[in-house]
Order: sequence, then structure tokens, then C-alpha cells
Amino acid sequence: MGSAQKIVTADQRHLYINLQPHFLTISEDLHSTYAFDAEGRLLSAFRQGINYQRGLSGAILKKQVVANGSKVCQMLSDAEARNLIAVVLAHVAQLRDLGLADQGKEVATWMDRILAWNVGRYSDERIRFSTIYQPVSILPPDQYLSLVLQAAEGCSWNRCSFCTFYLDRRFRIKTPTEFRSHVRQVKAFLGAGISMRRSIFLGDANALIVPQTRLRELIQVVHEEFTLNSRDSLQGIYAFLDIFGAEQKRVDDYRELHDALVRRVYIGLETGDDGVFQLLNKPGSPAACIEAVQTIKAAGIQVGVILLAGAGGTRLAAQHVANSLAALEAMQLGAGDIVYLSPLVVPANGTYANALAAAGSTNLDSAAINAQIAQLKTAARHVVGPGTRVTLYQIGEFIY
Ligand code: SF4
Repeated sequence: MGSAQKIVTADQRHLYINLQPHFLTISEDLHSTYAFDAEGRLLSAFRQGINYQRGLSGAILKKQVVANGSKVCQMLSDAEARNLIAVVLAHVAQLRDLGLADQGKEVATWMDRILAWNVGRYSDERIRFSTIYQPVSILPPDQYLSLVLQAAEGCSWNRCSFCTFYLDRRFRIKTPTEFRSHVRQVKAFLGAGISMRRSIFLGDANALIVPQTRLRELIQVVHEEFTLNSRDSLQGIYAFLDIFGAEQKRVDDYRELHDALVRRVYIGLETGDDGVFQLLNKPGSPAACIEAVQTIKAAGIQVGVILLAGAGGTRLAAQHVANSLAALEAMQLGAGDIVYLSPLVVPANGTYANALAAAGSTNLDSAAINAQIAQLKTAARHVVGPGTRVTLYQIGEFIY
């Protein structure tokens, strides 16, 4: 059980401390608020009206609402991140001396744990993360608090015209021995901070195209290293599947995965339109994706289907919307399934831009993308079953 306390200092500052089983938050006058995991690592900070989120990698994302009411997300530079950490630690030390350390043994222990970190230790932690993980390029929004385990690295396709997530690495599947070593390093790295994590996410882009025999072995490693689905533990296994057509699994394979606690598979449909799909250079086809979703759902596993708002640009917008909605309808989504609408973010020049120009189309501007998101959101709710969430997926807000 958690506990919250309010302390009024001699100079009339109001300090708030919220002690939870897996994290602690400290606030001064609700103007500055900091959260720490059970190892004393900074998780988030709110200062001077700006939110900062620190990922396990040590990167810090600044989120700020600007004058026109829109949200701006920006990754801090190394120097800015170090500076923020120094400011937060100095402030926490000040709050400890103002009376936080006198609020009982448990709070005092948390203070010691938090202040055992310094800027140098945070920097070392970033380096250590990069020796255990390849960069965690992206996760679905409902999995930002998962524990990523890279059973495979990269994407076995890596040629979609709009995607740069895994261009920095070659696709490879780990052996069970290698994977176990990775898992153990991850566990040692997180320490008590693992209690903040809600589920296992099997990385990277296409863990579910790993041949069934190897996948079975890799998932077995997960079960040997963690007790899943007990109270207060990691709840289930999640993964992306972005390749349809090749390496198909049968419903029995997915049933086996369901029995091994695979709970949801995230699928980058991107568009239900064949022409736009081709322009994106996705492998397979929308029809193969629909079939994959139906197979996965027949095995009792939920799906998260990702659509790219703005894909195909101006000329193909109408058919992108219409055929994407038709694909969603054909998937017969229901309780626990999610439709993610992700605004397409691409460089002005590059493979996708060239393909778009060759198709006689141009990128939608942000107002038109927002209008398409609104249109898809409203219409999608009519073609999915009860209990399916339709929601936004802003990749700029991702941090791990
Ligand atoms: S399959 Fe997915 S991860 Fe791979 S290149 Fe395409 S969009 Fe990127």
C-alpha cells in the first residue's frame, strides 16, 4: 500500500511525498515534482511548467505545451540531460535537508537511495544500457512501461520506404543461450526498478516471424527467468509483427503462443489500400495482413493494428481512408484490440518522398493529417466491435 504525506517547512514551503510500493514522488508546492524508481533512478521531472521523462536508456524527453496549445516533444542533448539531473539532485538534497529525511525510516532510506546517484553514475548507466541493448527504436504506446527483451534485433525486411527505425542494424535472431545472457543482464541492470515494468515486450520489429521452434525456445527462456502473471508481476508477453505473407504461422502456432502468455500482437498494416501499401514498400499486402489478424485472433490473442494517417498523400487520401476502414472491418476487431492512428512522419527527401512524387501525389500538411486522423477515428469506431480502442499513436512521444 502507498502513503502520501504533506510537510510544511519552517519557511512555509509545502512538500508532498507519495510513497508507493514501486516508486516515490516528491513535490515542492506542486511546482516541481520528481518521480524515482525503486533503485532511486529518476523517472520523470516537472519543473517550470515543463515535463521531462527519463527513459531506461538514460535519454530524457522534454514535453511542453506551447502558446497555441499544441504539445512539443524534444529529446534533450547529453549536456542538457546532465544539467537537468544535476538540478534535480541538488533540489532533492535541499528538500531532504528541509525535513524530508525526518519523515520516518522508509522515506529516509528512499532519500539515501536517490542521492546515492550523481551525474557521473547516471552517465555510466547510459553507457551500460548501450552494452546490453540495441537502441529500442519504438514501442506501441500501451507498452512504454514494458520490459523489452531483444529476442531478435532489427527488422528482417528493413526496406519500407517510410521507416528508418532499424536501418542501423542487421536483422538477427538470438540463440537461446545468447538471449538468456541478455535477459540476465537486463535483470541486473534494472535491479529493483523492474517492479515498475508491466509486461514483457519481445523485440525488435518482427520477433513473431522467428521460426516457431526457435521462438518456443526463446519464450521458454522468458518463463524460466520470470514468473509472469502472478499478482504484482509482469503481465503477459507482447510483440510486433510487421511481415505478412512470408513466414506465416498457423493458428495452432498462435494457440501455442497464447498458452505461453502472448497477449497482444501489434501489426503495422499502415494502410488497407493496395496502391498506398505498394508506395510504402511494405512486404505482403493488406489482404495478407487481414488474414494474419484473423489467424491471430482465432487463437485468442489480441491485436493492435497501426494505421498511418497521411500515407499516400493528397492524391491517394480518399482511397487510403476508405480501404483502411474496409480492412479494419474485415479484421472483426473486438474487446482488447486496439487501433492506433499514427501521423506519418517522413523526411522531405528520401525513398518515400520519391515514390510519392512518382505517384503524382504530395504530402498532406499537418492540418490535413489531423483532419484525416479525426475522420479515421470517427469512422473506425463504427467498423470495430465493442471494446476496441481507437487511439492516437504519436511516435515523437516515445522514449524507452
Ligand atoms: S517492416 Fe516495419 S520495421 Fe521493418 S522496415 Fe517496414 S515498417 Fe520498418
